[in-house]
Amino acid sequence: MIKKISHIAIAVKSIEEVKNFYEEVLGLKIEKIEKVPERKVKVAFIPIGETRIELVEPLDENSPVKKFLDERGGGIHHICFEVNEIEKEMERLKEKGIKLTTDKPEKGAEGNLVCFIHPKSAYGVLIELNEKNLKEKNESLVRKD
Ligand code: ZN
Repeated sequence: MIKKISHIAIAVKSIEEVKNFYEEVLGLKIEKIEKVPERKVKVAFIPIGETRIELVEPLDENSPVKKFLDERGGGIHHICFEVNEIEKEMERLKEKGIKLTTDKPEKGAEGNLVCFIHPKSAYGVLIELNEKNLKEKNESLVRKD
């Protein structure tokens, strides 16, 4: 089940280069920066209300984000929905004939499980599904007590 918008991702050539715009101009704050070698990207999260902006920078020439930047020069890259049980959700989508970019969920930032709905199946939008990792799930439960 889709719960909420986890983040909106924006492809950038360099997080360092756009930092000033998000922090000094817009007055937002980068919460953390993390390398995700599995996805060949470096990401920066900027909390905004109940959701976050994710700045995505390619780690190398083979990063899919590099291709996106070359073709479009940056901009909104994907929208991410947080889900409860990603594998169930993937099965449900596959049964409906929706094209996913991988057969199994992969490791994303913050140790979460992620998969992507192909833009061809989503009217031109790359959609990420993201299930929070258990450790963080448990910690957030503890924090609420
Ligand atoms: Zn994302």
